[in-house]
Amino acid sequence: MSGTLRMALAGNPNSGKTTLFNALTGARQQVGNYPGVTVEQKEGVCRRGGAEIRVVDLPGTYSLTAYSQEERVARNYIIEEKPDLVVDVVDASNLERNLYLAVQLMELGVPVVLAFNMSDVAKARGLEFDLAEMSRLLRMPIVPTEGHRGKGLDELVAAAHQAAASAAGYRPAEIHYGADVEQVLAQITARLEGQLPRAGARERRWTAVKLLENDAEVQAGVASGEVHALVQAEQARLAALLGDTPEMLIADGRYGFISGVCQKTVRSTVEARHTVSDRIDEIVIHRFWGLPIFLGLMYAVFWLTFTAGTPPMDWIDGLFGWLGKTVAGFWPEGSESLLQSLLVDGVIAGVGGVLIFLPNILLLFLAIAILEDSGYLARAAFIMDRLMHKIGLHGKSFIPMLTGFGCSIPAIMATRTLESRRDRLTTMLVVPLVSCGARLPIYALIIPAFFPQAWRAPMLWIIYVTGIVLAILCAKLLRATLFKGESVPFVMELPPYRLPTLKGIWIHMWDRGGAYLKKAGTVILAISIVLWALTSFPTLDAVDESLPAEEQQAAQLAHTVAGRIGHALEPIIRPLGFDWRIGTAMIGAFAAKEVFVAQLGIVYSVGEADEESEPLREKLQQNYSPLVGLCIMLFMLISAPCMATIAVTKRESNSWGWALFQLAGLTILAWLVTFAVYRLGSLLGIGV
Ligand code: GDP
Ligand code: MG
Repeated sequence: MSGTLRMALAGNPNSGKTTLFNALTGARQQVGNYPGVTVEQKEGVCRRGGAEIRVVDLPGTYSLTAYSQEERVARNYIIEEKPDLVVDVVDASNLERNLYLAVQLMELGVPVVLAFNMSDVAKARGLEFDLAEMSRLLRMPIVPTEGHRGKGLDELVAAAHQAAASAAGYRPAEIHYGADVEQVLAQITARLEGQLPRAGARERRWTAVKLLENDAEVQAGVASGEVHALVQAEQARLAALLGDTPEMLIADGRYGFISGVCQKTVRSTVEARHTVSDRIDEIVIHRFWGLPIFLGLMYAVFWLTFTAGTPPMDWIDGLFGWLGKTVAGFWPEGSESLLQSLLVDGVIAGVGGVLIFLPNILLLFLAIAILEDSGYLARAAFIMDRLMHKIGLHGKSFIPMLTGFGCSIPAIMATRTLESRRDRLTTMLVVPLVSCGARLPIYALIIPAFFPQAWRAPMLWIIYVTGIVLAILCAKLLRATLFKGESVPFVMELPPYRLPTLKGIWIHMWDRGGAYLKKAGTVILAISIVLWALTSFPTLDAVDESLPAEEQQAAQLAHTVAGRIGHALEPIIRPLGFDWRIGTAMIGAFAAKEVFVAQLGIVYSVGEADEESEPLREKLQQNYSPLVGLCIMLFMLISAPCMATIAVTKRESNSWGWALFQLAGLTILAWLVTFAVYRLGSLLGIGV
């Protein structure tokens, strides 16, 4: 009969597979409580629940790598014979290890029903499962069974029929192997497109994972030497970067996925955790302590950024000060030229002003690299997921948000891992609220100018936390209004902790820090020159020489293009405590956030003639109050993300509408928040 359901039984040795097979088919297979009894597959027919099911008992395996005969038999049966579904018989009393096979079946893309066998033993061991949630996360039906008593068989058969009936719409969950491995997988998958033209995206990804795992059979199936060369090179690179073989990294990813599922769905009434990772996690993702630990670690990072960053900043500051004086000295007194002003007030003040913050940037990224490579950031995401879940949000958004600490652009691209368009758009729109590396120079300039030493790290922490909280609130608002609807369930991986390698940390730090350096030498340089010109021209024909030098300079600045733009903006930004100088700097910041710092440097050095120039911070101190300093930071945190971010939002959302919505929405939000803070601060007389 061609309509008969074909079902394969898979499972670890001793999980009770043969017992279930016999109970389902009435056959008398050899049953043993030692591994390896069932070497070749046995077939039988199950007549429970009306329709017939042809059942195949696969050899017991722990994995689906092609190492052993049993694994090869089981895997090839599934790939070649394409059963309608696989029932994975799981020893529920030994869940994490047994789910390793389930996860690999899931990666194969075959519909899976989990038989939670030995559920009596699990119960006796004090394990409690949230099966509904586990089934949602794994996207597999789960049926508790007790093979030797024949319990749960009818439910299992019903679930099998149902899973087979809805197989066409089955979309397995996907494991995220971490940014580095994922990047390699994407590269291999792209190359495989030409090699396996008939394979779907999921199959190509599976092949790529298997190639990274050194699976001999899959390797033999791929003809291209080019692909093999790429795989080998990337395997070596990953091993050096992360300090472990790609096979281990992949296994860690799978166990991380399982661990993430179990953390959320398994309660143990007895103490059963033993590995080092488990013990650390007991504290670090604790229901109560997890969040304070995360916030405390963030604080430590900012403290380090400021404290350790100060000496090298002073050196760079000194270097650019010296450079400015030396270059200015090329022109004898009284013969200052435009070129001199361009070099000293434009290029050196602009680019130098940005480069001074390189040590802060590198330190921040160093700390993030350590947290990321050790596996802690995965925990941070897990904690935030739990928190966001509580307020009805999709926690997977937090992974792109973590990327957003570096730069919003890769963060917005990382939203591709979100399956539903609602989740994806929500995350994309709020990601810029997570403070990116380019905004750090603004804080690093302003905070020491207005706040005493003891307040510096807390201020930075407050700014970052404000960003995260606003991102979460805005996401909540969007999900409640424009993007109403269910979220797709997903698993937050908890891979084991590992000791980061020096090479890995170094490379991850420079990946981001180097981008900052490059930006300073290209985009910022170009914009500084433009801003310098806007801040210098047109010149006043006649300056009233009787006025004090400072007023002459102010009159000249007000006459320039930048001055006029700034003054035109003043009615809008006055209520926030900002003057026209800040207005012009904000316009520049739209090109790239660092330009804000560069432009303030330019505004405050242009027209300064030759007098001993004070550091920019002292000028800020003279011109603004600490409250205005805080308002500047808030506004720069929340308002319009840079042009490149808007462009990426447009590309990734495939709509100018959403990009402009992001631009306008965030800017309006920035204005409202800043206005409220400025009003409140002024009213209470704090920092005025
Ligand atoms: P296989 O290696 O996966 O085929 O496992 P078997 O079917 O040979 O079962 C191994 C042992 O577990 C046998 O002694 C079974 O009687 C026992 N067993 C099977 N299912 C259960 C169950 O649900 N609970 C308990 N306590 N024992 C079971
Ligand atoms: Mg058996």
